[in-house]
Amino acid sequence: MHFQLEPQTVAYRDEVRAHLAQALPPEVEERVYRSGVAHDHDFALGLVDKGYFAPSWPEEFGGQNRNAWDDQVVKEQMMLFDAPVYLSETTRMVASIIRQIGTSEMKDRILGGALKGDITIALGFTEPECGSDVAAAATKAVREDNTWVINGSKMFTTNGHIADYIFLLARTDPDKPKHKGLTMFLVPCATEGFEAQAVWTLSGERTNITFFSDVRIGDEWRIGEVDGGWQVLGLSLQDEHASGWGPHLARLLEHAESWATTTRLPNGSKHIDNPDVRRRIARAAMETEVSTLLQRRCVWMAEQGQVPVAEGPMSKVFSTEALERASQDIVEMVGPDALRSYLEPTAPEHGRFDHTLRFSLGTTIYAGTSEVQRTIIAQRGLGLPR
Ligand SMILES: Cc1cc2nc3c(=O)[nH]c(=O)nc-3n(C[C@H](O)[C@H](O)[C@H](O)COP(=O)(O)OP(=O)(O)OC[C@H]3O[C@@H](n4cnc5c(N)ncnc54)[C@H](O)[C@@H]3O)c2cc1C
Repeated sequence: MHFQLEPQTVAYRDEVRAHLAQALPPEVEERVYRSGVAHDHDFALGLVDKGYFAPSWPEEFGGQNRNAWDDQVVKEQMMLFDAPVYLSETTRMVASIIRQIGTSEMKDRILGGALKGDITIALGFTEPECGSDVAAAATKAVREDNTWVINGSKMFTTNGHIADYIFLLARTDPDKPKHKGLTMFLVPCATEGFEAQAVWTLSGERTNITFFSDVRIGDEWRIGEVDGGWQVLGLSLQDEHASGWGPHLARLLEHAESWATTTRLPNGSKHIDNPDVRRRIARAAMETEVSTLLQRRCVWMAEQGQVPVAEGPMSKVFSTEALERASQDIVEMVGPDALRSYLEPTAPEHGRFDHTLRFSLGTTIYAGTSEVQRTIIAQRGLGLPR
């Protein structure tokens, strides 16, 4: 087992990096940040054109049949460049489920458009009253002949205000045990009765609370069996739990190194001459390396046909908590100037320290909180009792 990239993967990574460097000039970075929306239509179309949208998908579905390492370096570079890909990722995640279990009618309607960047899909799992315990969803879908009538609300439906569809978890049988009375739907956002209201996060991201008031959709928008939603949801959560955030740490490290080696103290010495600065930077470098290796181990396991049941959550918890730790540590290291706002021209490193500190806090929450991930590691990884 080794986690160095093969020369052909390095070449592919460099190609991706060159594309991102020209597709994400400072104006795009600023527009994306000021809007709070991690999606940019032209940028997404550029990914499609280059084949970076779903590189490992089979060619007949619009992919390039690339291996898991190519897929991984694309993901790593997107994070390193802080590319606005959240809506592309959720779209690909749902498209992948439709590819696996969707009806042929659903595949025809969605897959082509999704892989071309013309159709986008947001995730509607969390509700105002339940997030970690997502199976407690109370949004109801009631069947009337061949139509479903949906009522309820979802919290943190990120990109729900611009997406074409919501991948919705709804309760279809309130009398069954909670995991057994759920069904998944693809709800067209243009349907009457759907509404999205803005919710802003500490890092300036726009997410939404979405409302479903007598939203009526045909049974053709159901994904999977009636009351079989938990199994369908499992396909997407498995993907989320295997995430790693090391490249965000790597970017923070680059900025910390740049600050330490290019700025000077009043006595003329560089910050990097200070042993405390070197100690903090070295710690961030070690945690970046561990985060990268934990994530790459998941890729390696997936390639061997193994499911990284505990290793995926380990990668998520370690890398996001390391990002939080390093962000705070580097703000202390740089001092009060580090809190000057992101994109403020006179802030050190254009305010990346401020932004990363605020951004890091959400990463331990979405895609499963650290507490939930630790429970998975304990119960499913180590076999400990509930
Ligand atoms: C910026 C952002 C974007 C998001 N985007 C989306 C999205 O696009 N679609 C979507 O559906 N959701 C999205 N989410 C929701 C996210 O997945 C949930 O916030 C997360 O799952 C936690 O749920 P909650 O907020 O209801 O917190 P809760 O579940 O209420 O948890 C509150 C606290 O209690 C802890 N806790 C809960 N249960 C347990 C337990 N059994 N054992 C130990 N501790 C526990 C949690 O770890 C947490 O610290 C997003 C969230 C954020 C912040």
